[in-house]
Formats: sequence, structure tokens, C-alpha cells
Amino acid sequence: MERNLTVAQAQDAILNEVSPLAAQTVAVADAQGRILAEDVLSTRMLPPADCSAMDGYAIHSAASQSASADVPVSMRVALEVAAGGSADCPLQPGDAARIFTGAPVPPGADSVVMQEHVEADGEWVRILKPAPRGNNIRNAGEEMHVGDRVLARGACISAPVIGLLASLGRTLVSVVRRPRVAILSSGDELVEPDGSVEGGRIVASNSYTLSALCREVGAEPIYFGISKDCPEELEAHMRSGLSADCIVTSAGVSVGDHDHVKGVIEKLGCEIRFWGVQMKPGHPMVFGRFDRGPAPGAAGPFVFGLPGNPVSAAVTFEQFVRPALRKMSGFVTHFRPTIQARLRTALRKQPGRLNFIRVCLEIEDGEIWASSTGNQSSGVFRSMSEAQGLLVFPGADSELAEGSDVTVQVIDEGFFAGHERGFEGV
Ligand code: AMP
Ligand code: MG
Repeated sequence: MERNLTVAQAQDAILNEVSPLAAQTVAVADAQGRILAEDVLSTRMLPPADCSAMDGYAIHSAASQSASADVPVSMRVALEVAAGGSADCPLQPGDAARIFTGAPVPPGADSVVMQEHVEADGEWVRILKPAPRGNNIRNAGEEMHVGDRVLARGACISAPVIGLLASLGRTLVSVVRRPRVAILSSGDELVEPDGSVEGGRIVASNSYTLSALCREVGAEPIYFGISKDCPEELEAHMRSGLSADCIVTSAGVSVGDHDHVKGVIEKLGCEIRFWGVQMKPGHPMVFGRFDRGPAPGAAGPFVFGLPGNPVSAAVTFEQFVRPALRKMSGFVTHFRPTIQARLRTALRKQPGRLNFIRVCLEIEDGEIWASSTGNQSSGVFRSMSEAQGLLVFPGADSELAEGSDVTVQVIDEGFFAGHERGFEGV
């Protein structure tokens, strides 16, 4: 077991250990946000035939070459093709076909003239200028041919990807399985939100925060309730989580007399990879892996023993559990985005551990400003709910001056939503 890693060392240790889960087949309509576990090859040519990109008239372009506004070329409208229709009989030179967007171009025609550019007159249409070949025609196979690799394994299934899969006639798709995360709370003082808090009891809010953070990355939290600070109860509780891909506990990982998490997981066969990270909040967190799960021969779940303080639990989840769950879900991007911002008021700390400072972000004259949410005690959870970012206050530094450039990890993706249009007068 390693001790007191830096944040980067701890993240690397975790990401080296975890790998994407196996594939499963799901309905395309339910696959949003998941990661493709297959290369998708096209089974169709799209468009399936040359089709019109406009409402207008399909013609032989050669027949229009002498056309001008003064001396138009008149053509007889010999047939009509609508979207979904077919044009089996060839178009004679000198004739036109009434055609609508998406309809197949009749054999022989090689150009479509927009209806706005002609004079229609009963069964006749007057062409006012020469039409180039290929005008307003979407060529067969322009988008894809049979056998083209249209989506690569590892792609994230966005709304347009769902549409593309549907257009290929797919109803099922292979995706990386979602991690199942057992959420465990421990502490004699803890009650559920509807319990009485008399006598200094506190609500086990971490389970709610951590479950929601799991859902945010598409993982499936399974709540196993509260265990007392008693090794036997904690052991039974921990066993119930062994069938998950990952166990996330909060509290009981420090050095207090009632901190039993480490002892219990080691007794159950967990190899602890590290304990303690040089960060604040969140120093005492522990990471390990059970050598066996409930299935014979299979490795057991990873375990993240997070600190109990609500801010520490959320910040360590952000730094360590979230990237691990993203990797297990198949994402190749594991981290939250970071931005460069300017610091509104100076910050001070003891040199040593890296601090994550909860900050609000504001855009002013094209610059992003970061301001502390206030009291940074790890007991003040309200500040976490107000924070849009975690400012990275490097371990070695003791002061960040007002106006200095700082790195902020953006934890509220809503920050990137636009308050303004972003383009004017265009
Ligand atoms: P511990 O790590 O057990 O020393 O807990 C540190 C602090 O976190 C204590 O004030 C606990 O009451 C609090 N705490 C522990 N578990 C939870 C939880 N599930 N939800 C909210 N606070 C908790
Ligand atoms: Mg405790």
C-alpha cells in the first residue's frame, strides 16, 4: 500500500487499474450517452438513388443551353415524381418532370431547376437560363455506400448518432455496460432524511450526493443504506456490495477509533493500493480492489473509501471516482474540463497539500473571473452546492494574488450554456 500520493499520482494509479466494462446490446432509442462497443458498417447506400434537393423540374441540361429570359426554352411537363415515388420511365430530351425534394430523379434527367427560377404555365414550363449538369441533385451514395464504416467503436452516442443508427435501420446497438456502483454510508450518528436528528444525529446526505454524481456520469448507483461504526455490521454491509463493479463508501477511513473501513475491506480480501492523497479537502481517502467477487475466478469490485465530510466526499468523488467510472463506461475522455480564469480576491493557505477551492464563475468583458464561495471548511456543504468550479491551488503555493491567472475545473456543465446569443448582426 502506498501512502500520501499526489492527486495526479492517485488518479494515474486508479486509471491504470480500471478498464472499460464488457459490451451489452441495448435498444438504439435507449442508447443515448453510452459508448459504442462496435464499429457500425453501413448496410445501405444513402441516398439510395440520385434525388432532387429542391422542389422544381428535372430536365436534360443540354436541352436548356440556349435558354435566356428573353428567349426561354419551353418544355412539356411529361411526368411528376414525389418523395417516396418512383420514376421508371425515362425522361425524353426536351421534356421536364415535375419533381419534389427527396424524390428520385427520372432516368435521363441530369439537372433540377428550382421552381422559383421558371415560369410554369399549365402543362408547360419555361426555363429562363441554362441549367448546369448535376444542378440540385443529391447523388446516390453521396452520404454512404454499403460497407462504409460510419461510426467507430468508442464514439459517444449523441442525438445525431441515434438518428444515424435509425436511418441505417438499426433498432439494437452494442454499447459498453454501465458501471454498477454500491453506495455505502457508515457512522453511528447517521439517519435517513426522514429520521429524527435529535441528540446530534445527522442526515447521511453523502449517499444522495454520491448517487446523483454516479447518475451524472451514466453509472447506476445502488444504495445499501447506513452501517453502524461496528466492524461486524460494516463487514456484512460491505459483503452486500461485492457484486457491484465498484463500491463507494463514505466516512470511517481516517485514523479515529471508530474508523473501521480499512480494516474491514482488508479482512474481506481487498488489496489497498493507496491511502491518503496530498489534497484538501479529502486527504484520508483510500483506494483498493477486492481480489475476488461473487463469481468464481472473477476479480472483485474496486473500492473507493471516501472521507465522511460532505465536501470531502464530493470533491474526492470528482477527482477519483468520476474519472474511473468514465473509463469503465468506455469514455476516452476521463476528466472534467478545465479553464483559465482570473482570481477575484487573493487566496492564502499553508504550503503543502493541493487545495480545491469552491468557486463561482462569471464572464466579464470576455474574461472569466473566479471567486471563492466563502467559508472553505469541509463541513460547509452549502458552498459546494453553489460552486461552479474547483479552483486548483497548487500544493507548493501559499498565496494566489488578486487578478492572477488560475486553473479551474468546471464541475457545473451548465456554465457553458449561453447567457447571450454569442453572435449579433450576422
Ligand atoms: P468520519 O470520516 O467518520 O470522521 O466523518 C467525518 C464527518 O462526516 C462527520 O462529521 C460525520 O458525521 C460526517 N459524515 C459521515 N458520513 C456522512 C454521510 N453519509 N453524510 C453526511 N455526513 C457524513
Ligand atoms: Mg464516523
